[in-house]
Amino acid sequence: MAEKITAYRFDRLDQTLSQLNIENCAIIAGGTDVMVMYKSRRGVPPKITKPIIFIDHLSELKQVYQNGQDVHIGACCTYSELLDDPLIPIPLKKAIKTIAAPAIRNRGTLGGNICNASPAGDTLPLLYVYNAKLLLRSLNGDRIVAISDFIQGVRRVQREPNEILTEIILPSVLEEGAHVVFEKVGNRNADAIAKVGFAGYIRTNGAVIEDVRFAFGAVGSTMVRSIDIEKKLLGKTIPLADADIMQVVAAFDKIIKPIDDQRSTAIYRKTVALNLLRYFLSLKHQHQHN
Ligand SMILES: Cc1cc2nc3c(=O)[nH]c(=O)nc-3n(C[C@H](O)[C@H](O)[C@H](O)COP(=O)(O)OP(=O)(O)OC[C@H]3O[C@@H](n4cnc5c(N)ncnc54)[C@H](O)[C@@H]3O)c2cc1C
Repeated sequence: MAEKITAYRFDRLDQTLSQLNIENCAIIAGGTDVMVMYKSRRGVPPKITKPIIFIDHLSELKQVYQNGQDVHIGACCTYSELLDDPLIPIPLKKAIKTIAAPAIRNRGTLGGNICNASPAGDTLPLLYVYNAKLLLRSLNGDRIVAISDFIQGVRRVQREPNEILTEIILPSVLEEGAHVVFEKVGNRNADAIAKVGFAGYIRTNGAVIEDVRFAFGAVGSTMVRSIDIEKKLLGKTIPLADADIMQVVAAFDKIIKPIDDQRSTAIYRKTVALNLLRYFLSLKHQHQHN
């Protein structure tokens, strides 16, 4: 006989938070990571040892709105919904289009990609260079944490059991002037897990670099970003001198430490990551997208 499990699906966020305050539950948004994580074998329901709590239908978690120049994205917006939303930055849409196939994009959520904390999560490099902040809510109140502090390792996040990620905030993303790129290298353009992900952000005043950020995915246990290296480029002019490009590439060469796995080799990953960086640093960055 099949084992019984307890599952909750409340109408409202506050009821959901109250339940999470009483007992530790497995949160399910789109379920596209959870169902794979707990699968045993074909025809057998996934073995989830905790009560499960569904959050994907909660309207409080599905809004996208603008606050000044910031964009707030509800954690349970699916990828398909985000592709249709005019407030979502074009580079993030580009990243989303590389994720899985439409069926998964109709279920998978941005909040799920963050809380799953896979080193190959495709939205993560961009969210790092956008300096994304996360709004976590519990009965104790709200707290806001930088994505780079929230994600602590492979599938390890700094979330209390009674908290739900409610919003992803992209600060100042609607301001003009930044040029942002996203590149994913996988076996195919979409429906393939990344071998390497790269996001670059640059804002210049005339030719002078005012702000620059880089993040690499799938080449470490979390996204690789270095504020110290970024700082070295502030105040330099575009196009960058070859010596500056070489210095930055050499600095990342030291801190990018990929692994061999079934998808790729460490040497391939590092070579591609550094090539993407070199390419980004050689661009003239005349186009402006948000
Ligand atoms: C066939 C297939 C292809 C895929 N391809 C890609 C790909 O190309 N790129 C990629 O990055 N990913 C891919 N994925 C992984 C997955 O689809 C994404 O990571 C997706 O964003 C997960 O979202 P979800 O809503 O389904 O998460 P869920 O599976 O519901 O949850 C994932 C984790 O996050 C927690 N969680 C979810 N939402 C919240 C919240 N709001 N607050 C607190 N905790 C929360 C859950 O408890 C769980 O631990 C693929 C998955 C499948 C099955």
